Amino acid sequence: MSLALACRGISKRYAASGTSPLTVLRDVDLTLHFGRLSVLMGPSGSGKTTLMRIASCIAAPDAGEVTVMGRTVAALSPKERARLRARHFGFAFQEPRLFDALTAIENVLVGLAISGHVGADATRRAEQALAMTDIVDRATSYPRELSGGQKQRVALARALAGERGILFCDEPTASLDAAAARDIAALLRRLVESHGCAALIVSHDRRFLSVAHEGFSLQDGRLAALDTEGAGA
Ligand code: ADP
Ligand code: MG
Repeated sequence: MSLALACRGISKRYAASGTSPLTVLRDVDLTLHFGRLSVLMGPSGSGKTTLMRIASCIAAPDAGEVTVMGRTVAALSPKERARLRARHFGFAFQEPRLFDALTAIENVLVGLAISGHVGADATRRAEQALAMTDIVDRATSYPRELSGGQKQRVALARALAGERGILFCDEPTASLDAAAARDIAALLRRLVESHGCAALIVSHDRRFLSVAHEGFSLQDGRLAALDTEGAGA
C-alpha cells in the first residue's frame, strides 16, 4: 500500500473577533494511500472542510506537518506548492461548478490546461477521463442538458484528467437524489480501485461507509477511525 499523503499532528484554530479563538483541529493524524478511498464524516462545523483544505495544501496548519508523496509541503515555495496541486490534486465539490457556456469536454479541457495539457494530447486525455466517469457519450452536451449526477461525473472527469493521483471531494453527493448519490459513491470506489488514485471524501452521507476502505470521524477537533464495510473487499 503506497503512501500518497500524510498529515501529522495537525492543529488549527481560528481567531474570532470579540470571542476566544476557536480550536477546530487538535493533533490530527491522517494518511491517504493510493488505491484507497477514505471517507471523513462528522457533524456540520466539526472541521471537515478545514482538514481537507490543509491536506490539499490550500491552507496551512498552525502546528503539524503535511507531506505529499514524500515531500514536506511547508518546505515548498508558493509556486512549487501551486504546481504540486495543479499536477497531482483533483477537486470536486457539492456543486459541480461547471462553466455553463462550455460543453462537458470543454470543461474537462479547462482543467487540463491548468496542469499544462493542451492540443490533441489534451483532447485525448479529456475523452479518457470522461470514459473513466462513464459520461463520454455526453461529451458535447452543455451543463444545462445534464442531470445533477451527470454534471458531477463531468466534474469528476475534470478533477482526474491528466492522471492526477489524489482526489479531494467535499460533500460530492449532497445535492443529489438517493439513486444518483449511490451511483457516484460506487463510481468513486471503482475509480480508486481501477486507476489506483487516492481519494479523500468529506461527506455526511453514510452510504460512503459501505464503499470506503477507510473511515474517519471528526468530533471536538479529534479524529477517530470508523468501521467501513468496503475495507476487505
Ligand atoms: P465542516 O466542514 O465540518 O462543516 P469547517 O471546517 O467548515 O467545518 O468549519 C469548522 C469551524 O471553523 C466552524 O465553526 C466554522 O465556522 C469555523 N471556520 C471555518 N473557516 C473559518 C475561517 N476562515 N475563519 C474563522 N472561522 C472559520
Ligand atoms: Mg464543510
